Amino acid sequence: MRGRTAAGTAFFPAANRLRGLAQSDIRRMSRESDRLGAINLGQGICDLPTPTVVAEAAKAAIDADESTYTYPEGHLALRQAIAEKAARDNGLTVVPEGEVVVTVGATGAYTAAVNALLDPGDGILIMEPYYGYHVNAAVVAGLEPHFLTLAPPEFTLTEEALRAAVRPTTRAIVVCTPSNPSGKMFDRAELEAVARVAHERDLLVISDEIYEYIRYDDCPHLSPATVGDLWPRSVTITGLSKTFSITGWRLGYALAPEPLARAIALVNDLYYVCAPNPLQHGVLAGFALPPSYFAGMRSDYQRKRDRLCDALAAAGMSPIVPTGAYYVLADVSQWGFGTARGAATALLEHGGVASVPGSAFYQGTTGENLLRFCFAKEDAVIEEACRRIRRFRPRGGLVVGDFVEADRSGPGAR
Ligand code: GLN
Repeated sequence: MRGRTAAGTAFFPAANRLRGLAQSDIRRMSRESDRLGAINLGQGICDLPTPTVVAEAAKAAIDADESTYTYPEGHLALRQAIAEKAARDNGLTVVPEGEVVVTVGATGAYTAAVNALLDPGDGILIMEPYYGYHVNAAVVAGLEPHFLTLAPPEFTLTEEALRAAVRPTTRAIVVCTPSNPSGKMFDRAELEAVARVAHERDLLVISDEIYEYIRYDDCPHLSPATVGDLWPRSVTITGLSKTFSITGWRLGYALAPEPLARAIALVNDLYYVCAPNPLQHGVLAGFALPPSYFAGMRSDYQRKRDRLCDALAAAGMSPIVPTGAYYVLADVSQWGFGTARGAATALLEHGGVASVPGSAFYQGTTGENLLRFCFAKEDAVIEEACRRIRRFRPRGGLVVGDFVEADRSGPGAR
């Protein structure tokens, strides 16, 4: 309700669309972690070093006064590099002049896509566990999220479940592969099922592939747009945040057939004008990194993943070992807290390690037994986090913790 307070001062409560929305637990846990000087394995901050060529090219662009707007769809040279990369790594042939839009992160691409291609009241099917921004950004765009729960440990998608989840008003489906938070990577059979249902029900397929280069045990990444003639009804989204450890740069892009890409570019222009110009030069240089860079990234992450999963298991959790992305969901029902927030708060306050409560990734209560941990951290930080996790001893919802003052200045305590 809009109006005046008793004292006569105008107040403007938030729009009706925002009712029930709050800042995500991913962010809340970062603030709490900072407040307590804990190690933040909650938000997927990714504070690993940015490759030198990427940073240097951005600095050079600033020095060269590359400070003005670019086209709303981004620099042509960058779109050409993206098109080459899409052909090489994703098996997607895209036209740099009309089918690539450089965006303000993958989030900017998603926001532009849902606003450009869907109407208020349209349904959008989201698989849970989900990345909450897929849900809430859709809600802010006036869409109605519909849900389909995938069960651990495989999070398998069946055609039958998919058909049952699509409602008469569903107009789009979101596929996040590798998935945040589960690390699931959709295989060909699953994506073929998506394609059959999408064709039959005339659905748009929005795929978020921001973790495409972070995958384990040689599990191949498949872009949904390459499966079952999905391209004409697909928007393929990626960000460079994770690939080049530049989460704060906000650089990403969308690939789509020209009529869709044109609409996305229009909204991108209206919301953001363009992605940051000098940083576009930085990521352009990153596209020239050799395959060994990506292979090294994969093996580094695999080592971090295994180290963290071992520590989680030693602390009485059951990690659901991910196939891709840099998060691990762990079942904490043994700890006996009853709620994920309770478990996350105890581990933060008494163990000195921040995680994200699993409830942030589900509508119902399924997430109450889960915590999500991010392992995109320097080895020394992971090591210290593992040491703290191993000695954290909760029993029946009570904690015997020893997160001491001296820990607060250790690695990662920021
Ligand atoms: N994608 C990251 C995560 O899931 C960061 C999210 C965010 O800060 N909005 O933690």
